[in-house]
Amino acid sequence: MSPDPPAAYLDHSGSTPMRPEAFDAMVPWLRDRPANPSGAHRLARDARRAVDDAREVMAEVLGARPGEIVFTSGGTEADNLAVFGVHDRRGGVVVCAATEHHAVLEPTESLGGRLVAVDRRGVIDLEALAAALDDGVTLVSVMAANNEVGTIQPLAAVADLVAGLAPTASLHTDAVQALTWLDVAEVAAGADLVSVSAHKFGGPKGVGALVVRDGTPLAARQRGGGQERERRSGTQNVAGIVAMATAAGLASATRAATVARVGAQRDRLADGLLAAIPGAVETGVVDGDRSGRLAGTCHLCLPGIESEALLFLLEEVAISASAAASCASGAMEPSHVLAAMGVPRDLAFGSLRLSLGWSTTDAEVDHALAAIPPAVARLRSFAAPVVAVSP
Ligand code: PLP
Repeated sequence: MSPDPPAAYLDHSGSTPMRPEAFDAMVPWLRDRPANPSGAHRLARDARRAVDDAREVMAEVLGARPGEIVFTSGGTEADNLAVFGVHDRRGGVVVCAATEHHAVLEPTESLGGRLVAVDRRGVIDLEALAAALDDGVTLVSVMAANNEVGTIQPLAAVADLVAGLAPTASLHTDAVQALTWLDVAEVAAGADLVSVSAHKFGGPKGVGALVVRDGTPLAARQRGGGQERERRSGTQNVAGIVAMATAAGLASATRAATVARVGAQRDRLADGLLAAIPGAVETGVVDGDRSGRLAGTCHLCLPGIESEALLFLLEEVAISASAAASCASGAMEPSHVLAAMGVPRDLAFGSLRLSLGWSTTDAEVDHALAAIPPAVARLRSFAAPVVAVSP
């Protein structure tokens, strides 16, 4: 039998494969155990117990009390619930970093909120944050780590500023990209609201959680059966919640080893590509210092190419990657994250995000190192100026 052709899945920030243990944990709840956890019979009580056990695990991993965990349909819903939920209750001004995920950015913008600048590494400008805070601010949202470039934000300093300058405001952090890599209980200790999403740490898609610390003002967005202590009505996704807790427990227990192993793979990949691709720039990395960034993220800007075309060529060699540019009304726009970091527009068009995760193998890194530089060279040769020949 011939060996499998080389392939590399390098889009873990988009979604990471399910951990087998999480998959196994969810199957019985999909196949054999139909009960609604709000029901009154024994099978329903079993389902409720499974949800409560999962709530305890999530609380432990996130540094919260079980009653502070609200299960949601994922990171987007958790972010929307945090921003709109506090604003619906208190009104006032919402403040967020300019590099937030759209699930925070768009709610904030729709409420006329304030965006705070970041520096060229993508780190929030604390002076600009201080200038944006006053007594009228009711919610501040700063992500734990960025999904495109992997910048980790100084949440403890943000929490101190908010406590001093907008003391009645709640602090939300989108920790969707963080859980595999950072101890969320520790980094988000000063936040009142914390969003996570299972498919970013080895659980299934379509399930997540929002920590709502006791005393945080929050209006429900979904009303109905009053589940999740009236904060999020809707029958709980029992299988998803059980699998999410299994994945969160594993991610947490293996975090140190994952960060060391995958961090070394990411460094080898980034260093190799920077050496092999003329003009390549590692986005947001100043003086080669990758501390302060998620261990699994490698983000490059490659002058002289367009990301979409590169992704197309990479697909031909079985590499799954991402560009992090969005196509609005037919016109390619560079990502708002790169724009906020001051990456020049032409460089941002050649952005490439390679994100590694818990299942990344050395063979995948080898394949990427062998296949990406020639793909870039090929594209650049197409793009070389054509000398016009007179008829
Ligand atoms: N926040 C961040 C930082 C993300 O990276 C994502 C997913 O890409 C989300 C929120 C949305 O999460 P979900 O896909 O679970 O809705």
